[in-house]
Amino acid sequence: MFDVIVIGAGWSGLTAATRLAAVGRSVVVVEKSRGPGGRSAARRQGGFAFDHGAQYLTARSDTFARQVEAWSNAGLLAPWRPELAVFGTRPSGAGETPAERWVGVGGMNAVLRRLAAGVECRWRWHAESLGFEEGGWRVRSREGDVLHARTLLVTAPPSQSAALLGSDHALSGLLHSVDMKPCWAIMVGFRDAPEVPFEAAFVNEGALSWIARCDVKAGRRSAPAWVGHAGVEWSQAHLESEPEEVASALHAEMGRLAPGLASRPALCVAHRWRYAMASRALDGPILADDARKLVLAGDWCAGERIEGAWISGVSAARRLESFLP
Ligand SMILES: Cc1cc2nc3c(=O)[nH]c(=O)nc-3n(C[C@H](O)[C@H](O)[C@H](O)COP(=O)(O)OP(=O)(O)OC[C@H]3O[C@@H](n4cnc5c(N)ncnc54)[C@H](O)[C@@H]3O)c2cc1C
Repeated sequence: MFDVIVIGAGWSGLTAATRLAAVGRSVVVVEKSRGPGGRSAARRQGGFAFDHGAQYLTARSDTFARQVEAWSNAGLLAPWRPELAVFGTRPSGAGETPAERWVGVGGMNAVLRRLAAGVECRWRWHAESLGFEEGGWRVRSREGDVLHARTLLVTAPPSQSAALLGSDHALSGLLHSVDMKPCWAIMVGFRDAPEVPFEAAFVNEGALSWIARCDVKAGRRSAPAWVGHAGVEWSQAHLESEPEEVASALHAEMGRLAPGLASRPALCVAHRWRYAMASRALDGPILADDARKLVLAGDWCAGERIEGAWISGVSAARRLESFLP
């Protein structure tokens, strides 16, 4: 019997897990993917290194800024100051320039790999059903493995968390009220660096919303690797399209914006983030069912970004600690 089972090895889950482990709690993190990262994942394919989810992080609060500084001092984060372009008119009120943009050294999951190394993690462990019995939680995986703990943290997207808890749970309505928007990403790799007059671009017209060159970020050992993110409307309209079709359409769109990127790539693949970002996060920072010693956390509770996920994870750890004797 563990003190805590954490479902999900993204920023919120691993933040909470490492804080609880640091005060002596027995914690196990279960993650359906094969490694840490969640939406802050990094992918290596064909000699290319891509950040196909989160691109960089920013620190708006003093507490997160101090944490970022510590990770930077540990060599896990580095500032990123790309040559930036803007296509189309920026929507009013959007995108104040942050004091600094930070990237993971070697990949956007650099911090998460470090955090995961300090706690017990079970990879490719897809939590499929939950049960609350006297004294604690039982979590069963798709493969039929079972774990028991006194308390439970769920950091899956809200609709998936709701499915795990069941429609009769008191938090179900609130979870279903959070609208997570999709995002199609493409990863494009070139053998020779194409001529492009920027390293990253905010795009406010057409299918794409963002383009960036990944191999110039700190610590990447990669041939020229570019990522593009489609806007919400385009992603929604093409939600069920084939990845090959999406990759080809978004690559053409990249080439329209930067003709150098139209050249024939060595690799061009698409990835669908079905639950990419909350259209509006809850007032956060967590949801809790105190009677059952259950916490739900994630960026969708507290601000739609890595900083929000971290804040939610910190708060989750505090609440879970208060449940334990
Ligand atoms: C395309 C894209 C671009 C982004 N760009 C930025 C950016 O530039 N800057 C920024 O700050 N933020 C950005 N974000 C948002 C950022 O990625 C998130 O805020 C952050 O990663 C969320 O962390 P989390 O822990 O809340 O959730 P997640 O990262 O989603 O972690 C949840 C984890 O739970 C796992 N899981 C779910 N269900 C189960 C289950 N049943 N069993 C086991 N495991 C399960 C998932 O596999 C996942 O690993 C972006 C997101 C996307 C998708």
